[in-house]
Amino acid sequence: MSVTTDFSTLALSNEQLATLKTLKYEQMTPVQAQSLPAILAGEDVIAQAQTGSGKTAAFALGLLARLNPAHFGVQALVLCPTRELAEQVADEIRRLARSQANIKVLSLCGGVPARAQAQSLQHGAHVIVGTPGRVLDHLNQQRIHFNQLQTLVLDEADRMLDMGFQEELDQIIAATPKSRQTLLFSATFPAQIEGMTQSLMRSPKHVVVEQAPLENNIEQVFYEISSDSREDAVIQLLLERNPSNAILFCNTKRETHALFTTLHNYGFSVQALHGDLEQRDREQTLLQFNNGSTRILVATDVAARGLDIKGLDMVLNVAVAHDVDTHIHRVGRTGRAGETGVAITLLTAADEYKFRLLQDAMPAPLTPLRLPAPSPQPSRPEAAAMVTIHIMGGKKDKLRPGDIVGALTRSGAIDFDSVGKITVQSINSYVAIKKDKAKLALSSLNNDKMKGRRFKARLL
Ligand code: AMP
Repeated sequence: MSVTTDFSTLALSNEQLATLKTLKYEQMTPVQAQSLPAILAGEDVIAQAQTGSGKTAAFALGLLARLNPAHFGVQALVLCPTRELAEQVADEIRRLARSQANIKVLSLCGGVPARAQAQSLQHGAHVIVGTPGRVLDHLNQQRIHFNQLQTLVLDEADRMLDMGFQEELDQIIAATPKSRQTLLFSATFPAQIEGMTQSLMRSPKHVVVEQAPLENNIEQVFYEISSDSREDAVIQLLLERNPSNAILFCNTKRETHALFTTLHNYGFSVQALHGDLEQRDREQTLLQFNNGSTRILVATDVAARGLDIKGLDMVLNVAVAHDVDTHIHRVGRTGRAGETGVAITLLTAADEYKFRLLQDAMPAPLTPLRLPAPSPQPSRPEAAAMVTIHIMGGKKDKLRPGDIVGALTRSGAIDFDSVGKITVQSINSYVAIKKDKAKLALSSLNNDKMKGRRFKARLL
């Protein structure tokens, strides 16, 4: 079946089409092409789609098309499982709403004081994006009303149910008009979701977007291990394969932290990425990984969602993902753009069922291997090639990458090849530098002037 992918074929305003152009959304993604005609026609839609598929824009364009900016009542509600996702969704809606003057998009998530949210609510909002618990709190306090609601979106519905939000969802939905349009997005469709769609939706259109097949330059290896040898197996594989960079996926925050501690104590260049990190720590962790200052990242799926990390040498599934889509998503991060990559998955006896599901989903048969005995004289972990220097100055100070390269290389003691990736943000900048040049670089940056003044620099 061929589907047109040109946005101009849709019932969108010229202003909206212009916004899409400025955002460089040239063509619809598959989930957009299949769902937008029905969404814009006001139909209910159930879509099976992952993060990265463009699903947010699909429902955002739909709900924005129906909004009446002159009416200050909640007209659209998007429910998401996590605060992080809700913030991302709210940002995408705001970006897409640029051409519609005065559209107010408010996010209502737990973990943030409810009082400030209550104040914002008094000023009215057209679109609410939030997590079920907090949205229900405000509803129960009668700070919001959904009797004017036109569009209800359940984003990552399977995850919301996994997190135990069924009751909150039921109560919120009961407060919305039956005439609403309901859009449900989910990566998987367990029976619980099927049941929900039957009671909530009116002859919904089903959209299934095929997962892009894995690139065939990815080597998938499954090793059988006993559950008490998991960390030893990870250390053995890292030492033997010695990847220049790798992401290690765990299923829980606790596993992530435990494995990070073990690897760190062993001497690996490693950092952990989990949902509890402050935004700034998260940014610095990613930056150090992307510029070669950290070789290994231990992460949960939630924390790694939506991250743009390309060209990984290795993905190691320390624990098998809970579902096939998540597995494919993890594995697909290695071996991109013609590079080869390896994806290793550790299997324990308890994973038999999950392994069978994976086997059904893969084009070629999978054979689990026994992990060979470790070398009697293991090598030592290799350090990262680079270190990161943090400069307390950025775009606001008119700093540009060229100023930083200039300050580093002016004396001739540091060559261009020793300078790595440079990231200039509004008030901070970061530069990667070869480890053996770090001291020299720090003293150049602290003593030389850039843009006519001195900036403080420190090793991250
Ligand atoms: P999502 O799956 O909603 O998380 O979207 C993944 C990313 O793709 C986001 O950064 C969007 O801004 C971007 N995106 C969505 N639709 C398009 C499109 N048609 N063309 C290019 N980028 C898009």
